[in-house]
Amino acid sequence: MTTPVDLHCHSNISDGILPPDEVVRRAHARGCQLFALTDHDDTRGLALAKATADELGMGFVNGVEISVSWGKHTLHVVGLGFAADDPTLLAGLAQVRSGRAERAERMAAGLEKLGLTGILEGARKYADNPEMISRSHFARYLIEIGRCKDMKAVFKQFMVRGKPGFVEHEWARLHEAVEWIRGAGGVAVLAHPGRYEMGNETMRVLLTEFKRQGGEALEVVSGSHGHADVHRFKNLAKEFGYLCSSGTDYHATGEGAREPGLNADLPEGCEPVWTRWAPTLGPLPRPH
Ligand code: AMP
Ligand code: MN
Ligand code: MN
Ligand code: MN
Repeated sequence: MTTPVDLHCHSNISDGILPPDEVVRRAHARGCQLFALTDHDDTRGLALAKATADELGMGFVNGVEISVSWGKHTLHVVGLGFAADDPTLLAGLAQVRSGRAERAERMAAGLEKLGLTGILEGARKYADNPEMISRSHFARYLIEIGRCKDMKAVFKQFMVRGKPGFVEHEWARLHEAVEWIRGAGGVAVLAHPGRYEMGNETMRVLLTEFKRQGGEALEVVSGSHGHADVHRFKNLAKEFGYLCSSGTDYHATGEGAREPGLNADLPEGCEPVWTRWAPTLGPLPRPH
């Protein structure tokens, strides 16, 4: 059973490959009924994505995935259903983006110490939106030149903390991201919590803090969650009183497990976040 909802997807406005209209068409072709484009730190794809969804008659929710520093952890907070012209949100996102160019230079310098050359130019070729140059663009270039076979391998070898292509970076504060989203009338969702390398105690501190700051939902179903993650975060959502979200985190065909548009069903007992925008869509019946 799948849910015709996808509230987490990327276009080439951040580190996805397809332009916004093509991601929307791909999701719709797979049967999606409610879709959110959630590019990292940038909302410039939303107008085209919404126009395309309107043309296709598919439900559309404005989205963004904000990069956050929380202590030594980098977290991603998805905002859904906000007003895309909110000046405080737009200024906040511009500020988050502003450090990326220099970060990219430092990442390239780290990789060039290994004897690799032309790394920055190579990564830039993949970054259609130069303000949003990211580790994914470096990774695609390292695959192109044959250093690694896939995204998983290249991150592990080069792009994570302690590796030559990683640099420490200060993103938005957690409370800022939540305030920008809520100030624009949106819902703040903690993205793919199963990806954060933290023990249960720290996760509980995070869920307590996020809730206190106005966070309303957890992404229980995600392209980067296995069954155990889904089960764990369904229970934590219930315990902490969070709504539940679901998204593929699609970036590019061939790079991840899931295509955009359809997702595994939310487990029983989850209160779907999307009832705010599509009350007739959820909760969906269980298979017999
Ligand atoms: P950045 O915002 O520049 O730090 O890039 C982060 C992006 O890299 C994420 O949004 C993912 O798309 C991608 N990413 C991070 N870790 C991995 C990984 N282990 N495997 C594949 N992609 C990853
Ligand atoms: Mn990404
Ligand atoms: Mn993410
Ligand atoms: Mn994402």
